[in-house]
Amino acid sequence: MNRNKDQLGEFKVGLEIHRQLDTRHKLFCACPTDFAESEPEQKFLRRLRPTQSELGQVDQAAMFEFHRGKSILYESDRQTSCLVEMDEEPPGRLNTEAIETCLTAVLLMNAKPVDEIHVMRKIVIDGSNTTGFQRTCVVALDGALNVQGKVVPIQQISLEEDAARKTSQTRDVAGYRIDRLGVPLIEVTTGPVLSSPEEVEKVALAIGTVLRATRKVKRGLGSVRQDLNISIPGGALIEIKGVQELELLGKAVEFEVKRQQALLTVRDELRKRQVTANSIQRNYVDLSRIFAQTKARIIKEALAKNGVVLALKLPKFAGLLGKELAPDLRFGTELSSHAIFWAGVGGIFHSDELPAYGMTEKEVQESKEQLNVQPSDAFVLVADEKTRAKDTLDAVVDRVLEAFVGVPEETRTAMADGTSRYMRPRPGAARMYPETDVPPTPVTDELIATLKASLPETAESLTKRLIDQFSLNQKLAKQLIDSDYLALFEQISATGKTPPSFVATALTETCKSLEREGIPVHCIPDEKILAIFRLVDQGTVAKEAITDLLRWQAKSPNADPGEGVRELDLRMLTERELEQVIERHIEKNKKLIEDRGPAAFSSLMGSVMSEVRGSTDPKTVTEKLKEKLAQAARK
Ligand SMILES: [Zn+2]
Repeated sequence: MNRNKDQLGEFKVGLEIHRQLDTRHKLFCACPTDFAESEPEQKFLRRLRPTQSELGQVDQAAMFEFHRGKSILYESDRQTSCLVEMDEEPPGRLNTEAIETCLTAVLLMNAKPVDEIHVMRKIVIDGSNTTGFQRTCVVALDGALNVQGKVVPIQQISLEEDAARKTSQTRDVAGYRIDRLGVPLIEVTTGPVLSSPEEVEKVALAIGTVLRATRKVKRGLGSVRQDLNISIPGGALIEIKGVQELELLGKAVEFEVKRQQALLTVRDELRKRQVTANSIQRNYVDLSRIFAQTKARIIKEALAKNGVVLALKLPKFAGLLGKELAPDLRFGTELSSHAIFWAGVGGIFHSDELPAYGMTEKEVQESKEQLNVQPSDAFVLVADEKTRAKDTLDAVVDRVLEAFVGVPEETRTAMADGTSRYMRPRPGAARMYPETDVPPTPVTDELIATLKASLPETAESLTKRLIDQFSLNQKLAKQLIDSDYLALFEQISATGKTPPSFVATALTETCKSLEREGIPVHCIPDEKILAIFRLVDQGTVAKEAITDLLRWQAKSPNADPGEGVRELDLRMLTERELEQVIERHIEKNKKLIEDRGPAAFSSLMGSVMSEVRGSTDPKTVTEKLKEKLAQAARK
């Protein structure tokens, strides 16, 4: 049995992987799928409202986001978007290249294609779609993927349009760039059968390998988004959205399982303390007078704007608000994120953390007295305009009441440290309805037969071919297949002179360690990487210079690598220049050479190399140095 599973207890995870397709055009128009490189040419402000769905209901989750009353400022330019993205023109037909790429992945995962692809609208009104919905279509169902001997069910494979990307956010206006809107995304959903953090990562990797096999996926940060559905016995189905890195999936699973377990502990503790939901009263107490002279900045600012300090008493909750559910995530944090979403304000103070934020012991003490708080009780404070303060405490009470049941169903956002925060309630069924502007696309037997006849190589046969054709070892071959650079590797190695194993190492290990340093190598266009290797082939730079060149190129992805060579002074020495360096070193070490004869070679080699490393190759130095030493000896 799995070690981690034993430690963590029982749980079930389903994985949803979204990956951008590198098709020539977007899903419903002829715009390219590349992102804007220039400043936006145009900006337009919109306020979104939820559309009445065909079912006659407005999705609850959508409705509440609407109530937050945000305006959206869209940024666009003519290169990367057209009237379709602006919602000024109906969408075109589904992109054939995207359908065929998706169907190829479908066949590789043994899923059953639908007879006709129907485009649906999924309500999303955070502003990331100009229409207020995202277009999505199921392409296949019921597949299976063999991952190291275990058959993992693939429930569904869909095509979707990507949303606009967020560029700014203030209290009332969110900014979005619409270059990304409409880029095709493939979505793969597994059954909820994964039962260890390691297994989740393995399956994500395996799905990634299949998608890359189509050779039509984008690479780098942001091109993959992973969602998790996690439940534990007695817990609830929690959706965690937007885990960006594969390496974070296991951690995200572990933290969520622990969070749900901790919430069950809170529930049990409440039962033990014999406190019930009935004891939570919505009669908030105005404590503004106590804080009239406060030094606490947030409270002071709120009061200055005619706001109030409102308090909610939580009988027998002492210690529970400070309970850690995950690193840096306390039960109080959950109350606070709830309040931010439902009331739109920035935070609450709870008694387990007070005094803090500039509040004095005296202020806290007086608050306790006015609220008649006993040592076993807790309380929550908020400082804001009166209605907003009340809405905030209402949201806190709503979340507190759920603590008596245990784990509330919700959608959460993945954070960079593997933990998550409350995002919104789980969307209801009314979220989807048919897109009437796009006709259904039939999936014909002929199309399937054609695609089947030209399926890409499986990972196994690909590994074997890489080993045979390029003399790579098993490890490098596998690393390449797991990387985003396989196609580029083949392109470089097909005609280049650099040893394939060096190319493979540069494209996998070097790129990976540069990314880890925070250098966005994935932003470098293929043709620039290709050009860098051509410089090596031509003898302009040593192959050892590639790391520095990639580092330079990542800073200005579209610049000419030749410029980098000049800037970093990486040009190789000519034969004559190298000879001059060697002659200089021999001249300087005359005495040493006389004393030690041929044994002086290694010492000289060291000093010459420290001067010319990176600008010539060591083999040439060895040859030249031996030649020159022999000449010197003859003199
Ligand atoms: Zn367009």
